[in-house]
Amino acid sequence: MATPTDSNTPLPVHVERWLAAFHRDRPMHESFPVILPNGATIHTFTGICSACKQPVDPTMVRGRVMWSLPDVATIDANSYCTSCQRITHHDCRFRSTEKTYRAEWPGLDGRWYSKIPPQPRWWRTLVQTIRSLWSL
Ligand SMILES: [Zn+2]
Repeated sequence: MATPTDSNTPLPVHVERWLAAFHRDRPMHESFPVILPNGATIHTFTGICSACKQPVDPTMVRGRVMWSLPDVATIDANSYCTSCQRITHHDCRFRSTEKTYRAEWPGLDGRWYSKIPPQPRWWRTLVQTIRSLWSL
């Protein structure tokens, strides 16, 4: 019978591969901002530690941006959380959607999830201001 394990605990073979990539790759922040063909801009990428669920120091998030399709930027990155001494692999895509983008990532259950990020506060304020002017 298989021993129950923490589903967040990566297999040693994966850890070895992710560490090699971590040492090979450049800090992710050097690849940002990423601008999609529709003009949508992704300003930064934050690596979240799979153990403590806290953002990892940007200098310890390393990886690459690849264009798997003309309108899809794929992030292949690994982060090292110094507090937990744990490496986390990040696999995510940014896909052009109308005038913004959709972030897609695989969940621990193996399913892909997606989300359109919230608009910045200044943009919502501008839209509300314009709407209120129209209603005068
Ligand atoms: Zn951590």
